[in-house]
Amino acid sequence: AVQHDGGNAVCFYTPEMAAAATRRMLLTVHLTHAIERNEMYLVYQPIVDAKTGRVVSAEALLRWNHESLGAVSPGEFIPVAEESGLIVPLTDWVLSTAIGQMMRWNAEGVLPERVFLNISGQQFLRGNLTLRLEELLSGCPELRPHLGLEITEQAAVRDLKVAVKTLGELSALGIQTAIDDFGSGYSSLSYVQQLPVAKLKIDRAFVIDVPDNPKSNALVRAAVGMAHGLGLTTVAEGVETVEQRDFLVSVGCDLLQGYHFGRPMMPDLLADMVREQRQPPIE
Ligand code: C2E
Ligand code: MG
Ligand code: MG
Ligand code: MG
Repeated sequence: AVQHDGGNAVCFYTPEMAAAATRRMLLTVHLTHAIERNEMYLVYQPIVDAKTGRVVSAEALLRWNHESLGAVSPGEFIPVAEESGLIVPLTDWVLSTAIGQMMRWNAEGVLPERVFLNISGQQFLRGNLTLRLEELLSGCPELRPHLGLEITEQAAVRDLKVAVKTLGELSALGIQTAIDDFGSGYSSLSYVQQLPVAKLKIDRAFVIDVPDNPKSNALVRAAVGMAHGLGLTTVAEGVETVEQRDFLVSVGCDLLQGYHFGRPMMPDLLADMVREQRQPPIE
């Protein structure tokens, strides 16, 4: 089959494309039942203060374990969920599950300062996110200042007006917001100053090449400087080595996240990390 994309370019429908379409269809079908079949769960990755190394925040990351497909990565199923509209119930499940977990952590005295949740672009731009969050937090208003939301650069620039409005509403609720995957979106820098966000998360693609690639070093240094100039806090994602950590500390990056400090983990293990560092030193 031949597809025309409107111009004079012609794309051929390859066997690889057909296989990918079949896989997407299969995932869509299984994704429909994933929540009711308890196949979804959240893991939490620590985010540390660059100066002290203490775990101050965590990012909730969604996991899907299907009995025959095995573990499917969010990089694969989130786009499928967005295409099919299943992202709506899925996001709702993430919000309520994470808030439930935060309530338990709070009761145990191990709630991190912030727990960040990822919000897909589609969900973010739909408009009823603030309302739903108010509803979910109505029974536990003390959690509000502990909640953070990450939205991707792409989602924010897709509809800047809606993004500015929603981010403003969220910050009025005391919910902190962060731009995720900063630098990966090929978008202009001017949008950053228009968005009422508190944090900028520097994409792993830049972190991966520091400190050996002078160009990446310059980009990361510039991103941190720009963020600070705008009054934003910076988070570097994907920190895997001591060398990367040392470089990021030297350029003044505020928070660090990556395998070097901890992989995404089950909630009890994150609680252990938080508890251990609160323990007074044994005499
Ligand atoms: P993200 O929000 O940028 O999340 C960071 C990703 O980097 C996670 O992948 C995490 O496991 C991975 N990562 C963290 N530290 C390191 C490191 O040191 N080295 C390497 N190689 N990777 C590291 P994950 O969990 O596969 O998630 C991928 C993406 O899927 C996320 O990127 C996010 O965009 C999306 N996602 C995950 N959970 C959710 C969710 O609940 N809702 C939505 N809408 N999207 C989600
Ligand atoms: Mg994220
Ligand atoms: Mg990220
Ligand atoms: Mg990323």
